[in-house]
Amino acid sequence: LDTVFLIMPEKIRINSPNVRYTEQYIKSQYSYQTTSVCRDGDSYTVTPHTTEFMFRTERAVPKLGVMLVGWGGNNGSTVTAAVLANKLGLTWRTKTGVKTANYYGSLLEASTVSLGSGPEGEVFVPFRDLLPMVHPNDIVFDGWDISSMDLGRAMERAQVLDWSLQEMLRPHMSKLKPRPSIYIPEFIAANQEYRADNVLTGSKAEQVEQIRRDIRDFKQKSGVEKVIVLWTANTERFCDVVPGVNDTAENLLNTIQTGGEVSPSTLFAVASIQEGCAYINGSPQNTFVPGALELAVQRGVFIGGDDFKSGQTKLKSVLVDFLISAGIKPTSIVSYNHLGNNDGMNLSAPQQFRSKEISKSNVVDDMVQSNPVLYKPGEKPDHCVVIKYVPYVGDSKRAMDEYTSEIMMGGTNTIALHNTCEDSLLASPIILDLVILTELCQRITFCTQEDRSFQSFHSVLSLLSFLCKAPLVPQGAPVVNAFFRQRACIENVMRACLGLHPQNHMQLEHKMK
Ligand code: NAD
Repeated sequence: LDTVFLIMPEKIRINSPNVRYTEQYIKSQYSYQTTSVCRDGDSYTVTPHTTEFMFRTERAVPKLGVMLVGWGGNNGSTVTAAVLANKLGLTWRTKTGVKTANYYGSLLEASTVSLGSGPEGEVFVPFRDLLPMVHPNDIVFDGWDISSMDLGRAMERAQVLDWSLQEMLRPHMSKLKPRPSIYIPEFIAANQEYRADNVLTGSKAEQVEQIRRDIRDFKQKSGVEKVIVLWTANTERFCDVVPGVNDTAENLLNTIQTGGEVSPSTLFAVASIQEGCAYINGSPQNTFVPGALELAVQRGVFIGGDDFKSGQTKLKSVLVDFLISAGIKPTSIVSYNHLGNNDGMNLSAPQQFRSKEISKSNVVDDMVQSNPVLYKPGEKPDHCVVIKYVPYVGDSKRAMDEYTSEIMMGGTNTIALHNTCEDSLLASPIILDLVILTELCQRITFCTQEDRSFQSFHSVLSLLSFLCKAPLVPQGAPVVNAFFRQRACIENVMRACLGLHPQNHMQLEHKMK
């Protein structure tokens, strides 16, 4: 096998006594500043605190394997094709001209952060250059699907990529075949049954064992060092959380043995966690029942989710953040979607739609709660989400939103938006960011001056919130949906790993006489 670890010289070197580069690590000393607040009636006492941290980031970037559940779907086939097209440096002609493979829509690959100022002004670099991370071109894909179609035909079925590009990719894509998967009909819509020709048989315990064997088989055959498993299969209905069945890790493992109710996505999560592989949920269902969450914490494995934040909800987390932080009071938010891909067909069934509705509905809560000037305790804007299946539009999803807000002196402001785009081309770069960030987090450890033993982030990897509609966070931790807060979190954690202060945008040097 090829050498698995790659140590590349970093593009950014920090010139500071707080940062040391050893052969294995980038080590940084970082003063983390927080404040505690005491409220007494209408007045507040605010006390600043500083905690000294040491961050350690392993410099060697492993060869990463990603196993997608739902590999043959629109997202699965599109992300695989996009990586291949980038790797091969493909260009293709459309009626509007020559297009080149790129990673637009990826936070890490296509957005930038400011490093500071040089002689020619402010210097921006791609996010990916901040710390050593996996390049998407180097990811090796594998996965499962209940549909046996090879990835070449699946790409055609998806109707996402231009035909001339598909023709160039087909010889490569056709060689990729999804592994048989776990299919329990009652969890996804009945209209999906016709696709299910590639399914595992046997008891739940046997199927989990097979998924574990698949992970090991992929690792061994491909020579990847690490595997991350990501669910991009159809949205399942919610699973009841039942004491004795799935409320603890032990009960969940017992239920798998006895054959009680466990969803396919939870079975995949359990298999991945047992193999020590991070597991990410790109759909809205409650895969992480308390027992699955406890298992991840016990085994020290990262889990992340839920539901890719790709289009309408992403915009909501920007727009509501803008309105409320500008002192304007949204009072009604109504979102209509129609789409014609297989995801839309699955979501046309009431129980699967309900999962999506729940995941889309809490996205404004933290922003509303942050402003007691505008909202009384418990007050919320009206918020309604509608999704309809319209086959003709295919993967080109339409989202129409109406935001009505109260402005000064009883005035009303209504913003109406119409958004059209290929859903899978928004979700694919998010899939890449999710796995690359997760892998990076697996190489970051930290300690404080008080407790010198190095630890990893909590198993529930809330740093992924930026990429998720319904962010999963450790019990008791606040859920942040606001777009710019989420982005700042990722940027500032990476800066801490480099011993740099958080980005403050004060530009005092330009405000002095
Ligand atoms: P899709 O229907 O095209 O693909 C899903 C694939 O999963 C299908 O090929 C199906 O055969 C397979 N599948 C179903 N159950 C399975 C199982 N138990 N094991 C293995 N494979 C299984 O849908 P898509 O457009 O690729 O979206 C995938 C998921 O991502 C959906 O749940 C969707 O709600 C979610 N999502 C998508 C976006 C987006 O922008 N595209 C955003 C947020 C969330």
